[in-house]
Amino acid sequence: MLRTRTFTCVRCGLTVGTLDPAGAVRNHCPSCLHSQHLVDHVAGGRSDCRSRMSPLSIAVLRTGDWRVVHRCTRCDELTSSPVSPDDNQLILMRMAVRPLAQPPFPLDVFAQW
Ligand SMILES: [Zn+2]
Ligand SMILES: [Zn+2]
Repeated sequence: MLRTRTFTCVRCGLTVGTLDPAGAVRNHCPSCLHSQHLVDHVAGGRSDCRSRMSPLSIAVLRTGDWRVVHRCTRCDELTSSPVSPDDNQLILMRMAVRPLAQPPFPLDVFAQW
């Protein structure tokens, strides 16, 4: 059985329970969505990096589930983790619309269709 544990957010200092309201294990802060690089996702096992991982973007799975993509501020490793029901929805929406708000090409072409 999983014991309820907490971690302290490396960015905002919030004390976060490792289980979200849905009972799933979480690894990022629900308030600022930052995480810490503790797991080596390439080699497996624990990582010695321990640096801050900032939320980069949203990925949507075929099932429709959202994941937050994190990038380590020190070693640039990319990871993704599931969105929890109490994650900061403003930050999630901001990340989701950012590519549409800042397209790398002019959108005029769509007006001609
Ligand atoms: Zn935080
Ligand atoms: Zn790292």
